[in-house]
Amino acid sequence: MKLSSIEKKIIENSIRDIKDFPKPGIVFKDITTLLNDREAYGVLMNHLYQKYKEYELDFIAGIDARGFIFGAALAQMLGIGFVPLRKKGKLPYTTISQKYSLEYGVDEIEVHIDAFSKIPHARVLLIDDLIATGGTANAAAELIKQTGAECVEACFILGLTFLDGIKNLQNQTSVYAVIEVN
Ligand code: AMP
Repeated sequence: MKLSSIEKKIIENSIRDIKDFPKPGIVFKDITTLLNDREAYGVLMNHLYQKYKEYELDFIAGIDARGFIFGAALAQMLGIGFVPLRKKGKLPYTTISQKYSLEYGVDEIEVHIDAFSKIPHARVLLIDDLIATGGTANAAAELIKQTGAECVEACFILGLTFLDGIKNLQNQTSVYAVIEVN
């Protein structure tokens, strides 16, 4: 299921650019204006549903925090479970974790050790709002593998193609970005 150019424009136009947030030189892609636009949100979620209903997925794993919004909605549409991949220290049960580099310093994401265990070798779709350097998504895909599940594909609403994030992540898993920003 390919998006038509009109549908793509509807989604694209609903995302707001905020210059110099959270610091000078960054153009922040604000998806809150997509979420509160029922036409754009509907077009996007319907597209993701039509695409991923063919994938025989068992779970969707969403990255903290904006990946939860799209991931949980899509999981419900597909009739499958949702698993949150959270920033360190937020999950209450036993976790496994993966560190990743930021521009300054390191961060860590975690998943509950039994999150995918109901289905052996579960087929998992990873989802987040945006891929930039790919550090977060790489760690997330690695984490899914460590649980014994399979990361079938990583899906992003926006992919910044002027960075190497998508290329790097493709060494680990298939990658799909609804909108490519160059
Ligand atoms: P990265 O690990 O560099 O691929 O960064 C991806 C994460 O940071 C995602 O969870 C995004 O939500 C967030 N992010 C990075 N750059 C931007 C941006 N320009 N606008 C909005 N969110 C961003």
